[in-house]
Amino acid sequence: MSASTETTPGTTASAESAPAPTDATSAAATSAAATVAAATVARLGAAFTAGRTKPVAWRKAQLRALRRLLVEQEDVFAAALHTDLGKHAAEAYTTEIGFTVSEIDHTLRHLDRWLRPSRVPVPLALQPARARTVREPLGTVLVISPWNYPLQLALAPLVGAIAAGNCVVVKPSELAPATSAALAHWLPRTLDPQAVAVVEGGVPETTALLEQRFDHVFYTGNGTVARIVMTAAARHLTPVTLELGGKSPAVVEPGTDLATAARRIAWGKFMNAGQTCVAPDYVLAIGGSATAIEAHLTAAVREMYGTDPKESPDYGRIVNERHFDRLTALLGDGRIVTGGDHDRAERYLAPTVLADVDPEAPVMREEIFGPVLPIVSVPDLDAAIAFITARDKPLALYAFTASARTKHRLTTETSSGALSFGVPNAHLTVPGLPFGGVGESGIGAYHGAHTIDTFSHTKAVLDKPLPADTLRLAYPPFTPLKSRILRRFL
Ligand code: NAD
Repeated sequence: MSASTETTPGTTASAESAPAPTDATSAAATSAAATVAAATVARLGAAFTAGRTKPVAWRKAQLRALRRLLVEQEDVFAAALHTDLGKHAAEAYTTEIGFTVSEIDHTLRHLDRWLRPSRVPVPLALQPARARTVREPLGTVLVISPWNYPLQLALAPLVGAIAAGNCVVVKPSELAPATSAALAHWLPRTLDPQAVAVVEGGVPETTALLEQRFDHVFYTGNGTVARIVMTAAARHLTPVTLELGGKSPAVVEPGTDLATAARRIAWGKFMNAGQTCVAPDYVLAIGGSATAIEAHLTAAVREMYGTDPKESPDYGRIVNERHFDRLTALLGDGRIVTGGDHDRAERYLAPTVLADVDPEAPVMREEIFGPVLPIVSVPDLDAAIAFITARDKPLALYAFTASARTKHRLTTETSSGALSFGVPNAHLTVPGLPFGGVGESGIGAYHGAHTIDTFSHTKAVLDKPLPADTLRLAYPPFTPLKSRILRRFL
């Protein structure tokens, strides 16, 4: 059994490098995309209605096949990730391929328990009766994924959507064309084509898909497109999960182990050349820690990537020229402590730390999403909390502190998708933790059991036997006696 790749004639994988289309070719592409989208959704919808995806055995077989694919073709996917983002094979494994294999293993291990109906107590007035909740799949769901972790962010939602019993259309990012092509090649040879489809392409193809009625849309990417997705979904009253980004601060307090804190911040920031949604966006240094952390960050970068990170096989590249130009324009927003070197031809931008950054500078206004790490100083914890709460709720908040009181205050006085002490990025590898944002950083969450929640409807089931009609007291005509008894029981 194998899933299908839907191709729109005339689609080029790399939107950025494609020549500008004429009106006639773009109208033809739009119409072809609409045809593909409608046919794909119709085919998957028919499979869902026929009950193809409901048996748990089918779901597990799909997950095992996907696992096998990732293990057997690890080199192929690692090569694609290297082509798109210069990812080292070790990083490709830990953050994408192996990550997805772990998600599959965790799901296979717990799926039966997650799917088990759950008993709910019934109030006395309704006795005898039994109540339970039953999970049911939603139908056909759309997964739209971005370019920065183009394998993980397409496949981790796919795993949960299949496990919950849905048909799935996966739309990989056109900005990671090698990974998109690899998914489009291999998923059809691995998964059930009646139930899982890959649609490649960019804006026209995604727009055409969003015209269709899905039962859920799961989007990972930026907030601007998220609004387009949510508007399109609203037309069909389709629920959405929006996994977005934002500026995730790393609070650093004096009195903590700054050398280790700097190493961990540098690790979280500069993996995938800073193109990680949960990467520390900036350091919020309290009191005297600002000056001290500068030196430690410089040392940490050198330790990880050597004196010339351009030569390091462990350091990635910026996804395209547009992002490269956006990032290099930020380099003047502070004093360069380390880094700053760049080479447009290679889309290389060194791991860069900026100090003495004005909180109003452009680098502090938008999510950076690249290897530029500003340090902003605040005098004390009150000021740090005020700084965080005056801005959009972040996807993640990190703090490096030895103080239990600081931890308590950050937990209770700030809001963020996740809060992590002592380590950035790692919370999303804890399968029991929900992964998602709040406010501008997103709607909904997933990973492990939370993915099953996202892709299921929890149906309320009540079963009251007909004999012994205990509800007679509730039927009209009402009498004072019936009312008294009813009030007592309710
Ligand atoms: P992107 O450009 O690859 O876009 C994401 C998807 O949206 C792609 O599949 C693309 O084809 C589609 N798309 C783009 N424009 C569209 C349009 N006009 N209409 C319909 N669909 C459209 O990725 P991106 O948005 O640059 O991703 C980076 C952002 O994603 C950052 O803000 C980052 O923080 C966020 N992100 C969040 C998470 C998370 O899990 N919360 C993970 C990764 C990235």
